[in-house]
Amino acid sequence: MAARILDGKSLAAQVRMAVKREVEALAQRGIRPGLAVVLAGEDPGSRVYVRNKVRACEETGVRSELYELPASVSEEALIDRVLALNDDADVHGILVQLPLPKQIDAQRVLETVSPAKDVDCFHAMNLGALLAGKPRMLPCTPAGVMRLLEHGAIPVAGSHAVVIGRSNIVGKPLALLLLQKDATVTICHSKTPDLENVARSADILVAAAGRAKLVTARMVKPGACVVDVGVNRLRDGSLAGDVDFAAVAEVAGAITPVPGGVGPMTIAMLLENCLRAAGASK
Ligand code: NAP
Repeated sequence: MAARILDGKSLAAQVRMAVKREVEALAQRGIRPGLAVVLAGEDPGSRVYVRNKVRACEETGVRSELYELPASVSEEALIDRVLALNDDADVHGILVQLPLPKQIDAQRVLETVSPAKDVDCFHAMNLGALLAGKPRMLPCTPAGVMRLLEHGAIPVAGSHAVVIGRSNIVGKPLALLLLQKDATVTICHSKTPDLENVARSADILVAAAGRAKLVTARMVKPGACVVDVGVNRLRDGSLAGDVDFAAVAEVAGAITPVPGGVGPMTIAMLLENCLRAAGASK
């Protein structure tokens, strides 16, 4: 294998250690960061994500509260829960786990979260602040990718970065962060013609499409850095990213694995956002 592995698991452990130290420092000022997680429905993937987030909170001393609501919950009841958390001074961060049950307008719920407690950075006001270059907090997955690039000494300024995926959660905010670090950025999506050639022009190629093995070795410029955000459940129950890891690792200069790449960094960035929200609360 030619590519250097960008190890998100070990970097995330370092971030969690630093968060733990800062939580202890905040305790001296009488503040204990608190995260409220709202989980509606029975989605098994969501349950695993929430469990991992709650466990990371426990490990670092961030207080966490889990609110489990039935899949049949009404939009008004969910919004009332979020409004109560907005008013709770012991809660510094609120996370509404997606996807929400289909009868619920997810955007309306996300816009109900107080922007100051929006540790996922999904609120339009926080996305707007990011667009204006004055973010209060950074969205967790894009911030995790940027931290991995920084730690791996991947040159971003002057590079051509290609982001596959244009969601509000990953693709678009990540493209903005890369742009702010002086990359020339191309955003691709399902209607992009000749994805293979566009991808092959990238110095930094980010796959965030949710399609297993979408990125093949032919799509990667030799020596490029490949970041795999995708998490796909295969028929045999195993997890795979969006990148054909074994083949691409023969061509790329650096690559993130799945699992152990972007996933743990997302949770680490969530903890940092909780810390930031708590520190700003007094
Ligand atoms: P999403 O909202 O479904 O967006 C997927 C994007 O990929 C869309 O913009 C879509 O294009 C594009 N796309 C889909 N198929 C494509 C194809 N064949 N060629 C080019 N573009 C294609 O997904 P998301 O929420 O951004 O998540 C993306 C992936 O990242 C998922 O696998 C998700 O599980 C994973 N994820 C991982 C983490 C983590 O912490 N590791 C965090 C968040 C998400 P259109 O806009 O044209 O439909």
